[in-house]
Amino acid sequence: MGNLSRFYADTIALHKEVTGSAFINTITFPDSTRKRVLVDFGLYQESEYSELNKSLPFDPSNIDYVIVTHNHVDHTGKLPFLVKNGYRGDIHMSESTAKLLPYALEDSYNVLKINAETLNEPQLYSDADVTETLKHIKGHPFEEGFWLDENIKVTFFMNGHLPGAVVVLMQIKYCDYSNKRYDDINLIFTGDYNNKNMFFDVKPIPKWVHQLPVTIIQEATYGDMNSTDIEYVFENNILNAVSTKKKILIPVFSLGRAQEVLFLLKKWQDDGKLDKSIPIYLDGKLAIKYTWLYLRDGLDNKEECKYFLPENFSYVSTKSERNSIIESNECSILLATSGMGSNGPCRTLIPQYLKNPDALIHFTGYCAEGTMGRRLYDCQYGEIVDCCGLRVQKLASVLFTSEISAHAKADELIEFLAPFLYKKLVLVNHGTNEKKDVYANRVVVETNTKNVGILGREYFYRIDAYGLRKTLTTKFQ
Ligand SMILES: [Zn+2]
Ligand SMILES: [Zn+2]
Repeated sequence: MGNLSRFYADTIALHKEVTGSAFINTITFPDSTRKRVLVDFGLYQESEYSELNKSLPFDPSNIDYVIVTHNHVDHTGKLPFLVKNGYRGDIHMSESTAKLLPYALEDSYNVLKINAETLNEPQLYSDADVTETLKHIKGHPFEEGFWLDENIKVTFFMNGHLPGAVVVLMQIKYCDYSNKRYDDINLIFTGDYNNKNMFFDVKPIPKWVHQLPVTIIQEATYGDMNSTDIEYVFENNILNAVSTKKKILIPVFSLGRAQEVLFLLKKWQDDGKLDKSIPIYLDGKLAIKYTWLYLRDGLDNKEECKYFLPENFSYVSTKSERNSIIESNECSILLATSGMGSNGPCRTLIPQYLKNPDALIHFTGYCAEGTMGRRLYDCQYGEIVDCCGLRVQKLASVLFTSEISAHAKADELIEFLAPFLYKKLVLVNHGTNEKKDVYANRVVVETNTKNVGILGREYFYRIDAYGLRKTLTTKFQ
């Protein structure tokens, strides 16, 4: 055992609840040198935290390395802001994420542009900042460790959350001048995590990783729900609406969810459950680009999933095509972005569908506080809703399901932890405050974890080879 007095990592999360993911890890080595590794740097989407998007509570030129867990804007959308403010190092991610990220950043630039123009505010970053950011991207294959420098080794493991999503293992090593080896500090970031994916088989974390003494930074989006609590209603809801000739709008996330729902519709057609004459549309530039990428590149998807488009399907590529779907009384299924309903074509479509008693709006995933989806969830039939500035009466059916969620449920999160033999510290994050509490309490009771904490802006955790050294309060609010 080496002298541990000056070998530790201070880990803090800048995000409070689900969006705006960013972890700053400041590593202090026994020779007093320091390295800072940022894991993810995303935009906040909960309206109450949107002001935090403009803040940069650290100096980007002090960050040595950046790692990205997956291609969601609430994990990546502030990377160009980081580069604009002085970050010049590499941005490491999986090979698939490296293919997907250019589309995402271009889109988040466009969304920020519209928001800045609407609010008459300066824009967070320019398209030149996006171009510059893309020059720093480095894609790595799964399970092939790479070194950030001679002390920090990173390995990416497959994660079912999205194509290209990873669980990150960071092994921090030190050997002093007399060749004395210190015990490694091992950090695991689950990122947004799912144990399965419709399009590819998730390769399990290898045994050698389970045998390491580790600190695990784990998400808890569905920390209060077990997989057995899920009601499988989506197929019935959609097929019932089709049988009564409803117009159906399904808000989808552009990556993952859009393609998964198209794949489900194809399966229902193949099984004879869904009439192939019902037109199916996909509206949303980014969702269309990702769908092309799935078809052209295959990403990490299984051979049998490479062609997943249903019959009688078309892309909505112009406003007039969108308008003619809105005007038509014909039964159809329209998938449109964004998944929480607040951005993209859903801004135009939701008010029009919501006032139509012959329409169904079916959300398919988590809707953060302050989003359109959450407002519709909270209001009753017949109530007036504020829909992006329009006052609209809720006359359509509005339904929700968590069954095609991209996140593991609490029991599956516990299952993820179980095979790790030496869980020194588990830090729960990425969930509403209530869900993080419920899940962290389960980790205390149901797993043999030495220490359990909730990672956020209030505390940072000083971690060494034996797990937790101490907690310290932060200056962040
Ligand atoms: Zn997330
Ligand atoms: Zn995500």
